[in-house]
Parts: sequence; structure tokens; C-alpha cells
Amino acid sequence: MITRIDLRGRALDTDQTDPRALVPRAELDVEAALAVVRPIVEDVRHRGEAALIDYAAKFDGVELTEVKVPAAALAEALERLDPQVRAALEESIRRARTVHRDQRRQDTTTQVVPGGSVTERWVPVDRVGLYVPGGRAVYPSSVVMNVVPAQEAGVGSLAVASPPQKEFGGLPHPTILAACALLGVDEVYAAGGSQAIAMFAYGYREAAEGAEAQGAVVCRRADLVTGPGNIYVAAAKRLLKGVIGIDAEAGPTEIMVVADASADAGVVAADLISQAEHDPLAAAVLVTDSEQLAEEVVKELETRVAATKHAERIREALAGRQSALVLVDDIGAALVVANGYAAEHLEIQTRNAAADAAKVRNAGAVFVGSFAPVSLGDYLAGSNHVLPTGGCACHSSGLSVQSFLRGIHVVDYTREALAEASDLVVALANAEDLPAHGEAVTARFEERQG
Ligand code: NAD
Repeated sequence: MITRIDLRGRALDTDQTDPRALVPRAELDVEAALAVVRPIVEDVRHRGEAALIDYAAKFDGVELTEVKVPAAALAEALERLDPQVRAALEESIRRARTVHRDQRRQDTTTQVVPGGSVTERWVPVDRVGLYVPGGRAVYPSSVVMNVVPAQEAGVGSLAVASPPQKEFGGLPHPTILAACALLGVDEVYAAGGSQAIAMFAYGYREAAEGAEAQGAVVCRRADLVTGPGNIYVAAAKRLLKGVIGIDAEAGPTEIMVVADASADAGVVAADLISQAEHDPLAAAVLVTDSEQLAEEVVKELETRVAATKHAERIREALAGRQSALVLVDDIGAALVVANGYAAEHLEIQTRNAAADAAKVRNAGAVFVGSFAPVSLGDYLAGSNHVLPTGGCACHSSGLSVQSFLRGIHVVDYTREALAEASDLVVALANAEDLPAHGEAVTARFEERQG
């Protein structure tokens, strides 16, 4: 069911080893997806809502008359929300707010010289578009994970898009609508995939009669788009980067478990399965120095997969080249593999879990010990679940309040402080053969007639 990779006896931590190549990843053909997405993006740019309606018919099998979700549908979804789900969502929001509120950076002013200071002011983006996936599974938790940090950052205008669902009359899933309503988000669009990202990049207007006429703006363009999604969503973000800001391209989910003989094989198997459940391209990887644990996990996988609801999808994910049981000499070697792989989710289930977790340098999020499963982080730990995948954790972070802020440098110098720096600016300007740069400083000290 799952590939075995035996790295025992191999020197892993050398300049001759590419740590990223030790465990393979799924082959994602983003180039092919870009070719699919490019005409869709252009079409939405030019035809606006008419194009969105056509793609909803083509990809989601629904006939829409309008893409914007009416306010009454949001209120109704909240009213009908199962009380237990509502209580869980409310607690998820509360915990996420608690963590994300603490992330807000303070403005800092640095006195560089007497009379000369630089302030870094953290300012939220004006408008964000938040994508909530809804193809294979329903992700109300992604509403929480996108909206809460944006709100805590102080973003003024916030819109959500999620694919229209056939069984709900072309609206996004009611639990997604209810989550939006709980969070006070009233601008929601029934749009999925690359067309939703294009909608946020270009906005759209009401249809108007006549070639020159322009209808009123329905969806304003966003400055930034965040949120996970499938390969078409990732391709559209890549294509539109620059037109809009994007967070990381969050692709198919990944779990890596670093475990020693002290780990419970049933728990390890359950955690691997929990992420394989997302997607046939999801990666589930165990790295262990215990042959016995590896064998027990294989047995547990067999029985647990057979008993769970999405067995077929999980089997496909576990059998894919991106999932593996990796055997290493010791936990030190396991951490070399983990740091090389830079998993989206990394669980440490070892005797010295906290100490081992402290050695992790590359991961989207780290889950320490037996009582911090990834599913807790998916919903209720308070941490964010929109995390970098595909090895991007070696250079990127998950979604946070910081994702929605820009640092603006505010430069404030007095006449005296500028005069003192004048010769140095002129020297550097001349060295770069840009004398007008220097002249812009000296002009301020010229004797002027009249
Ligand atoms: P999705 O909402 O991302 O995609 C569905 C949309 O894809 C459809 O509405 C349609 O518009 C478009 N589409 C489908 N087939 C197409 C085609 N052939 N050509 C063009 N467009 C097409 O939902 P999904 O497919 O279920 O994917 C969700 C992904 O998000 C999963 O891979 C999941 O693992 C991932 N995810 C990641 C995180 C994270 O934090 N990294 C969190 C939640 C979900």
C-alpha cells in the first residue's frame, strides 16, 4: 500500500546529498494547469460575471443567475446551522483570535542620528479576497483560518469566494456561508477555481446595455488573495501574482511524522490517514528508526483505511509516489530528512519530543508529542492551517496577521541631520554616476536669489 524507503547506513547530512530529494513529492504539472487557466483568467477579465456563470456551469454543473450570494442566504445558513457545529466553530474562532491577536506587530521608530528617524508602520492591505476550497471537501475551517488573521490585521474590506454547489442550488456549501455569517463577512461569491482568483484580481461590474455603457461595480478588485485550493487555484495565483498579491501557493496537503519506538502505531497510522483523506495527491510520510514501528504502522493502515469513509481516496494517496515509510538510523537522521523535506505539517512523536521539535528548522507547523495531532491544528489549536506545501516551508510561513500587513518606512530628518549626511549622499550618488541624486540634496542648501 505504501512505498518503503530505506536510508539506513547512508550519510545524509553531507554537501553531496540533496536533502530535498530524499523523499519524493507528487508530480504536480503546474505548467499544464497554467495552460488551462490562462484563457479562463482572460475570459473573466473581459466578460466578468457572464464568464463566471459559464464556468460555474462547466466545472461545477450549476446554472447561476448571479454570482454574489444574497445576504438572506447567509442569514438563513446561520439560522439552520447545527448547534454542535456552531459551538465548535465559535470555539475555533475564539482560539484562532487569541493566537492571531498576539501576532500583531507594533510600529517601531528608530532614532538613526540626532534629528533623523525611521519609523516602520504596519498597515493592513485595503481589500482582500479569501478563497475557500469546496471541490472535494467542505472547508468552513478555512473560512476561519483566512478571515480571522485578516480581521485581526485590521483589513477594511474582505470578500470570500467558494465554489457553487449543485446540491445547494448553486450557493457555496451552507456551512461555509454560516461560518462567514458568524465572522461578520457579508460579501461572498459563488465562484471556484481559477475563475474565482481572476474575479478577485479584476473585479466585475453589472451587465450594461450598449457597447460603451458600464454597469455598476459589483465586486471590487482585491489587493491581495489568500487561501488554499487545488492545482488550478495555485496556477491562477502564480499567473496573477503582480496584478494581485498572493500568499504561498498552498497545494495538496502533507503530513510527515517523525517517530521512534515509543510511538503508538495506531495513533501514527490514524494521523497519516487523516491527511491522506484530503486528496489523492496528499502526502503521508512516516520517518522512523524503528523497523518494528514501521511494520505495525503498515498493519494499522490496512485495517484503519478499510474501516474509514473515504477509503478509496486515502488508498490512492498512500499508494502515490508522494507517500512513504522512511527508515533511518536514528532520530538525528530523521530530523535531517524532516528539515530537508520541509513538510507542511510535521508531527514529532518521540521520547524527547519537545527537544527534537526544537531542532526543526523547516516546517509549516510542528506538532509536538502524542497529544497534538494535525487535526487539532486543522480546526481548534488556535494556530493557522493555511500552510506552505511542496517544500515551500523552507522559505515561507503559514498565513498569519503578518500576511495582511505591509511595513511602510516613514523617513523623518531635520535640516541639520540632512546637512550632516549631505557629503556622504553626494559621494555615493557620484559613485553610481547618478549626480542628480546628490544635487537633490545640495539644492536644499543653495543660496537662492530673490
Ligand atoms: P477547490 O475549491 O480548490 O477547487 C474546485 C474548483 O476547481 C472547481 O470549482 C472548478 O472551478 C475548478 N476545477 C475543477 N476541475 C477543473 C478543470 N479541469 N479545469 C479548470 N478548473 C477546474 O477544491 P478541491 O479540488 O477540493 O481542492 C482543495 C485543495 O485544497 C486540496 O488539495 C486540499 O488538500 C487543499 N487544502 C489545503 C489546505 C492548506 O492549508 N494547505 C487547507 C485546505 C485544503
